[in-house]
Amino acid sequence: MSIEKVDTLVVGAGQAGVAMSEHLSNCGIPHLVLERDRIAERWRTGRWDSLVANGPAWHDRFPGMEFSGIDPDAFAPKERVADYFVDYVKKINAPIRCGVEVTAVQRNTGRPGFRVETSDGVIKANSVVAATGAFQCPVIPSVVPENAEILQMHSNDYRNPGQLPEGAVLVVGAGSSGVQIADEILAAGKRVYLSVGPHDRPPRSYRGRDNVWWLGVLGKWEAAAMEPGAEHVTISVSGARGGHTVDFRRLAAQGMTLVGRTESFKDGVMTFAPDLADNIAQGDANYLSVLDEADAYIARNGLDLPEEPEARNIDPDPQCVTDPILELNLEEVGIASIVWATGFSQDYRWLKVHALDEKGKPKHQRGVSAEPGVYFLGLPWQSRRGSSFIWGVWHDAKHLADHISTQRKYLAYRTSTQRKTDG
Ligand SMILES: Cc1cc2nc3c(=O)[nH]c(=O)nc-3n(C[C@H](O)[C@H](O)[C@H](O)COP(=O)(O)OP(=O)(O)OC[C@H]3O[C@@H](n4cnc5c(N)ncnc54)[C@H](O)[C@@H]3O)c2cc1C
Repeated sequence: MSIEKVDTLVVGAGQAGVAMSEHLSNCGIPHLVLERDRIAERWRTGRWDSLVANGPAWHDRFPGMEFSGIDPDAFAPKERVADYFVDYVKKINAPIRCGVEVTAVQRNTGRPGFRVETSDGVIKANSVVAATGAFQCPVIPSVVPENAEILQMHSNDYRNPGQLPEGAVLVVGAGSSGVQIADEILAAGKRVYLSVGPHDRPPRSYRGRDNVWWLGVLGKWEAAAMEPGAEHVTISVSGARGGHTVDFRRLAAQGMTLVGRTESFKDGVMTFAPDLADNIAQGDANYLSVLDEADAYIARNGLDLPEEPEARNIDPDPQCVTDPILELNLEEVGIASIVWATGFSQDYRWLKVHALDEKGKPKHQRGVSAEPGVYFLGLPWQSRRGSSFIWGVWHDAKHLADHISTQRKYLAYRTSTQRKTDG
């Protein structure tokens, strides 16, 4: 039986796989993209119903195509983002095979290349790009036992408030997912407790420009590495309801109870760290620092952007911040469900090569792995802050395609004697 051969095999057809295909084609590199579900499936079905893109449509896209039928300053609903990538695949005629899962990638012994096992047979490839995303496996910290009598779900499985049982809800994590989900559940009329850890909360917009624009002109999207100590600081920003700045005081004024970082659970009692006021204060400091940097940028460049002094008004801390709850008996306060918006880990168990460290994390430099011929794409901070976002992955894919192209040229090299012999 003949085995299918491709030069470069790309695993996954989310935005990363689509970008990779575009750049491989531009470099003239024959390739195939395998996707176990459908193109951009995570955008279509893998997130909550009301999710919209966190950046406006003019920004959260690839350079080669605009969103059609949507105001460039609007935030595209998740299905529109998925449709965008389906349209993009048609535009670039990307060779994508859907419904095929890659189950194992092994290096050939004694010769270059890889043996790729899939749900549809074996493929031989010279290079493999793992474009399976940064948000693969939902992580729930082991705080509340699985068999505790309370419904627990990860934000990955949350779809809408109708899924939740009667009673109050504890949302753990106040990054973009947690805060948007908590906001939606509160608006649906439920009592909500939100556990707020360290976070940044940039203004949605300031002086007439969206946060993504400020990140761009201030060079923050291009930052090569996270600031030391900021590894556990999540970013709270929302495109919901036309986009707005995340304001924990507003949520508290609307009836949400804020608590500190969730620490432990025993005999039905959840314990929270006494860090809420600090976390809120540091979030404010981050917010104000963006305004300061923006003002300085405007002054330095003589830009004519409208003043917005009211953006600096910060309301007094609500009672739940000044007099924080450190313990909650969940049953007594009627909490019937917990939504864990606590992030994701990666799963590369199918990649049976020397490209992962002892914790299973990619060993790489800008996506070029420690195993020659194996590449990663879509990792957070792969080359810069923007790497795991729509616009950023496109640039990282270009770097990888250039690398693959260069390696192909080395491998194709023949000495002049060899060239004469080859005829
Ligand atoms: C809640 C949420 C909201 C976000 N909002 C934004 C936003 O507004 N703007 C923005 O720029 N970014 C946003 N992001 C970040 C990022 O853009 C998305 O996570 C995006 O889906 C990542 O694309 P990807 O292609 O890297 O991975 P994914 O979209 O996860 O695609 C990976 C693909 O690989 C496939 N796959 C996995 N394993 C295999 C296998 N073994 N064989 C074959 N196929 C496989 C999967 O089926 C999947 O389709 C958001 C992330 C989350 C979690």
